[in-house]
Amino acid sequence: MNAHIKFITDATLAGLAKWLRLLGFDTIVYGSAADRPMMRQAQSQERILLTRRRDMRERQFAGDLFLLPAASTGQQLNLVIRKYSLKINSREMYKICLICNQRLHSVGREEVRDLVPAFVFENCEQYQQCDHCGKIYWLGSHIQNALQFLEKNNINIIKNEEM
Ligand SMILES: [Zn+2]
Repeated sequence: MNAHIKFITDATLAGLAKWLRLLGFDTIVYGSAADRPMMRQAQSQERILLTRRRDMRERQFAGDLFLLPAASTGQQLNLVIRKYSLKINSREMYKICLICNQRLHSVGREEVRDLVPAFVFENCEQYQQCDHCGKIYWLGSHIQNALQFLEKNNINIIKNEEM
């Protein structure tokens, strides 16, 4: 189980952070310059620190730090998944808001009728919403695109028939 694994990234890894959220991992993007306060937050919240900054590794840090190379988001994601042996399950995808890292909640189809495009309403049964920013997520084409991206980057996914 990897439900307890949490990350904190520096701002240059925001693209990677978005993908980690999409896959169900609680991931904070540290807004300010990656420095000691970021390390303190990583330690106090028991988050794995992902960074592009080589000098971060030279500092004293008792937590788990992974220095990522300059690479595409897909390659970086692949490296993180391999390093921490993360299990990627399609059932865990789109459970966290990609924007604010808050857990999403299911909302009824009728509740979103006026909030989503008509073609989406016609074609999609299940919706999730972020309580924090109000953004509504639906599956369907989103998840297909995500699965294609993962496949292209050689990331294995546990697929569930009901998706
Ligand atoms: Zn949100």
